[in-house]
Amino acid sequence: MTGYRGRFAPTPSGALHFGSLIAALASFLDARRVGGHWLLRIEDIDPPRCPPGAADTILRQLEAFGLHWDGPTRWQHDRDEAYAAALERLRSQDLAYPCSCSRKQWRDFPTYPGWCRHGVQEPDKPLAWRLRSDKGLRPVTWQDRLFNTQRFDPAALGDVVLKRKDGLWAYQLAVVVDDDDQGITDVVRGFDLLDNTPWQRQLQHALGLAEPRYLHLPLVMNRDGQKLSKQNLAPALPEDERAIRPLLHRALATLDQAPPETLALAPAAEQLDWAIAHWDVDRIRPEAARPATDADMAAHTP
Ligand code: GLU
Repeated sequence: MTGYRGRFAPTPSGALHFGSLIAALASFLDARRVGGHWLLRIEDIDPPRCPPGAADTILRQLEAFGLHWDGPTRWQHDRDEAYAAALERLRSQDLAYPCSCSRKQWRDFPTYPGWCRHGVQEPDKPLAWRLRSDKGLRPVTWQDRLFNTQRFDPAALGDVVLKRKDGLWAYQLAVVVDDDDQGITDVVRGFDLLDNTPWQRQLQHALGLAEPRYLHLPLVMNRDGQKLSKQNLAPALPEDERAIRPLLHRALATLDQAPPETLALAPAAEQLDWAIAHWDVDRIRPEAARPATDADMAAHTP
């Protein structure tokens, strides 16, 4: 095993679909190609968005595709103390502040204008916690493995929420705490998260956490140019072998790995063996988006 540690970190807001398969598959292949670890983390910090059973479905879908992860599954719902400790560290450096403002109040601004930075506007209201994006590391730059040099000023992106008014932890904080705790060296995920990375780098810097390498992947879009999601009815990945085989082959083709036609109906394990041996990030065309084919979007009847 090398020191490589990758992860797939789905939010269990529904079953996995073709778009999530791309992220899972690419991060799996990237880890396995170098004999690294591949971990699974279920990002279930927002229970109202996570219907019962969705996480179990995700685990079954990954197994059915032969995407076996190392070690126990990590769950975010029982990581409250770690997130609270991180928030406390940020607060003690004046890098996090409580905020009473509602979105309605700042709807005429592109991002939250920071009114509560120097004192809460309405202390009797429920309070969220926000990052002082103007005080941390700026600008943030990194070398994306597909999209090359990235440079952002987090202050222009705004003071992102770290803890919500309803007491739930926000993705940006939880993801950096857990990537560090799990020793993640390589993050491989969709292009939609590229512009979240500046906040995450800022948080890693403020909290003294290791900074993983990043590889953002082209997003699979539906005919209307929307990212595939449960909201726009992207069909759930199948769990039966017959339907899995051609879909896995199309996922490899979507990642520009040019899988041989002869593998199109081969068992998942055989396709994955080939894909691990041939995984080449340089083949992926650095496009923000890719159209899904009708076959990718066809409903899979169990
Ligand atoms: N949980 C996030 C999602 O499902 C992904 C987190 C990540 O890969 O950083 O969109």
